[in-house]
Amino acid sequence: MLNLILFGAPGAGKGTQAVRLRDRYGLKHLSTGEMLRNAMAAGTPLGLEAKKYMETGGLVPDEMVIGIIADVLHQCTGCKGFIFDGFPRTVAQAERLDALLKAEHEQVDAVLMLDVPKDELIRRLKNRANIEGRADDQNESIVANRISVYETSTLPLARYYMRRGKFQRIKGALSVEETYEQLTKRVDALLG
Ligand code: ADP
Repeated sequence: MLNLILFGAPGAGKGTQAVRLRDRYGLKHLSTGEMLRNAMAAGTPLGLEAKKYMETGGLVPDEMVIGIIADVLHQCTGCKGFIFDGFPRTVAQAERLDALLKAEHEQVDAVLMLDVPKDELIRRLKNRANIEGRADDQNESIVANRISVYETSTLPLARYYMRRGKFQRIKGALSVEETYEQLTKRVDALLG
């Protein structure tokens, strides 16, 4: 299997690139944000619980997202691999992902960070608010909170994966096409 993590702040372009990489390499795209929004829209108990955290831009408790990921990993027999998008977001989530994959004799192969300056992130999220109408993009203080949660709780994961020799940084402030090209070069190199 090939297991990739797309890493980066809100607005870095993880979702856009994940879909392209999914199609090119035949991997399964797992976006915890998307799965939580679907659960919210369906009004499931998990969705209703997640809503409380998502509407302020905070993180949903680790156990909830790990549960979702564990279910998908177990269901996916014969998958070529995964692109994790928006997960893991805390060191605890990363440790649990390592354990889940290890139980299947698998591992995280690479963590690809889309590195985008803060002013560009804010510009993109404002733009996306007008196009996609996502509730958590609409309000400036929620956007600011998401970026600050990223810096405090998620960025420490960079060191976690650096220590394991898995972390690669990519310039994410370029065009979608140029960013995709850089990503595919890295993934092609992994595949040898
Ligand atoms: P973005 O990266 O643009 O902020 P996502 O769709 O990845 O958007 O996430 C939206 C929201 O869903 C987050 O602000 C958070 O509340 C929740 N969420 C998504 N993934 C996770 C996760 N792995 N752990 C905790 N909360 C999460």
